Amino acid sequence: MNYISTRGKSFSKSSYDTIFKGLAEDGGLFVLENMPILDWEEFLSEDFGYDEVSAMVIQQFFQDIPYEEILDMTKKAYNEKFFVKNALKIQKVGDISVMELFHGPTSAFKDFALSMLPQFMEKARGDKKVIILTATSGDTGKAALEGFKDIEGIDVVVFYPTDGVSSMQKLQMMTQEGKNVHVFAVNGNFDDAQRGVKEIFQNKEMEKWMDDRGYVLSSANSINIGRLIPQVAYYVYSYIELVRKGTIASGDFIDIVVPTGNFGNILAAYYAKEMGIPIGNFICASNENNVLSDFFQKGTYDANRSLVKTTSPSMDILVSSNLERFLYEITKDSERVAKWMEDLKENGMYSVGEEFRKEMKDFYGYYATVEESQEGIREFYEKYQYVMDPHTAVAYKCWEKFKEENKGNYPLIVSTASPYKFPEAVTEALEIHGEESHLLEETEKKTGVEIPVPLEGLKDRKILHNRIIEKEDMGKVIQEEFYGSN
Ligand SMILES: *Cc1c(COP(=O)(O)O)cnc(C)c1O
Repeated sequence: MNYISTRGKSFSKSSYDTIFKGLAEDGGLFVLENMPILDWEEFLSEDFGYDEVSAMVIQQFFQDIPYEEILDMTKKAYNEKFFVKNALKIQKVGDISVMELFHGPTSAFKDFALSMLPQFMEKARGDKKVIILTATSGDTGKAALEGFKDIEGIDVVVFYPTDGVSSMQKLQMMTQEGKNVHVFAVNGNFDDAQRGVKEIFQNKEMEKWMDDRGYVLSSANSINIGRLIPQVAYYVYSYIELVRKGTIASGDFIDIVVPTGNFGNILAAYYAKEMGIPIGNFICASNENNVLSDFFQKGTYDANRSLVKTTSPSMDILVSSNLERFLYEITKDSERVAKWMEDLKENGMYSVGEEFRKEMKDFYGYYATVEESQEGIREFYEKYQYVMDPHTAVAYKCWEKFKEENKGNYPLIVSTASPYKFPEAVTEALEIHGEESHLLEETEKKTGVEIPVPLEGLKDRKILHNRIIEKEDMGKVIQEEFYGSN
């Protein structure tokens, strides 16, 4: 299996090497030269668990890693650290199904990938010492910290923006335990933090500084193919589950509705379709930072706007890194992709033109405002006594808009976080009142939905990280952290 860069100038043969590198040398992202095809109907013949299905799917992409080796990793990832059997739950509510991806160690879907990536990295690093650098809009940071915690030979550094993560997300990171974890708040928003991390990666002096001390930098952001691929598995598994439960018949098409930020999760769904899973439409759901929904409506990606702070902070993003992989898939033309990325860098925008818009016809972009998503949480609870988090509610509202204009197939709405990660928005929507420090308990009392184990008692845990830094100082802070160590 060959991995090639979306910008055409880098190439890699080994899966572990590709994962270890993260970003390709030419600045592009690694993609597969040929998409594997999956004989998914075989999965229906036996009662395979999530550990097995995910290992089989992942192995199709990383064919030079033996199946048994991957199965060991999926067992460790999904059987020991998740709080439900088979890692995820599909809830049939009214005329939709909700895919709950928040039953992992940090109560957001990032756990699916970040329970695997550290295991890949551990194997990939050989005898090199690694520093994982991550910018987070809230959920990646915590999942990376939890995933990489106390892994030998690897340190993990997380930068989160002071503006725009929820109180629970902040608390989760500030209380993180582990010998090898480093957490900083950066004055600014997510794009500032992400830009800072990218600059550190591209800084040759920094590379030399690290090299002199025996370190290599790598990333846990969703540009890493080792993070993307484990996510394909839950789309395959969910399709099988829907058939097993009789919600759909084998071979029926389903539509996937994804609350989208960096375009990783929805891209994984697209990979599942390319592998052969019967998926009809993709509903790309944005919040008010609707760069992506505009892109699918108009064919122009325009990041020239200011970032809006919403109640779904993990989608407060203007530059969606993984879209580059999608552009490559629809064009198979790395020169063209490199040009668009150049345009984006220079002018903050690019247009794909009519010929390629045809290739994205299965993608529908919609967005929901804060008001609409709050309304979504409230309506859905009143109708079904089911509590959605604000990101999931954005997806739900976007599906309603899609349905008004299109026929569509049976919808699977992707629920990316537990509502308890966003207590301010959820309690406001459900009109739950009480002391700020008791919002979780009040919500549990009113709704009967249990507080997830990882969030229980969080407010009583010791604060271990409370440094706030300026965005210009991100590189300096890393040097201070690792100065003298070797
Ligand atoms: C990260 C995140 C998203 C966006 O996912 P992408 O893969 O970046 O598109 C949506 N919802 C939640 C809760 C998240 O943590």
